[in-house]
Amino acid sequence: MAEFGNLLLGGHVSTSGGISGASDRANVFGFRTFQVFSKNQMQWNAKPLDPSEVKGFREKVAENSQGKIMVHASYLLNMGTSDPELRSKVIEGFSLEIRRADELGIENLVFHPGSRGKATMEQGISNVAESLNEVINSTQKVSILLEAAAGQGGSIGHAFEQIGSIIDQVDQKEKVGVCFDTCHVWAAGYDIRSGAGYESAIQEFDDAIGLKKLKGFHLNDSKKGMGSHVDRHEQIGLGTLGVEGISNFVNDTRFHGIPMVFETPKGEEGYDLDIAAVISVLKKS
Ligand SMILES: [Zn+2]
Ligand SMILES: [Zn+2]
Repeated sequence: MAEFGNLLLGGHVSTSGGISGASDRANVFGFRTFQVFSKNQMQWNAKPLDPSEVKGFREKVAENSQGKIMVHASYLLNMGTSDPELRSKVIEGFSLEIRRADELGIENLVFHPGSRGKATMEQGISNVAESLNEVINSTQKVSILLEAAAGQGGSIGHAFEQIGSIIDQVDQKEKVGVCFDTCHVWAAGYDIRSGAGYESAIQEFDDAIGLKKLKGFHLNDSKKGMGSHVDRHEQIGLGTLGVEGISNFVNDTRFHGIPMVFETPKGEEGYDLDIAAVISVLKKS
């Protein structure tokens, strides 16, 4: 089993065969955290969670000493939409994601802020905030994390200021945080590979959002270059961000204890090599 020091490393794992198996799939790699989908990510509806699967999931997570788990919301849930019909469907679907995460005892629900379509960025931003205000309830346990976007098409949240303005308009701010996807932020145009570029990007994040809102990372390399606005993940060390970029994050002690989860193209079949690439640059702490 790999030794990650103070790094809370994990990976997105499959739930095929049942969600109760996800914890062990992550444990194979020594992961103390992981990410899953709680339902088919390309469908609106889902069968209710099987109570024995929920029980099994919670037991395994405790047995494997895992936590700060992330569930990734369905890709269909465009919280930024201006279309009233779609919006009511999205609100319903997102509320279902919240209920399922709480049932499973998962701490974080990650979602893509979505697309503004033909609307202005300002409108898109207020749509996302309004949608969040509608779905967030005072009794939910799960935190909702806005994922930084690569900036493809009309995507919302590819600049830290955009995420900051969404959170500014959310009523229950204590229920929201941010997931920093290293591939997306790089593709969005932040130079997080050079030492100086990394420091200034993190400073910009702190100014626009606040570092205390940073609750999770998607640790991915990128097939496309900085500023390409293309969201194509690559195995760690094999992309344009490279181990130099990844090294900045894994060696930043401010982020130790915050989950860093791989979403690399080969999934579980590639994590051994992703781990080896991380270990190769990880300084002893
Ligand atoms: Zn991601
Ligand atoms: Zn992505």
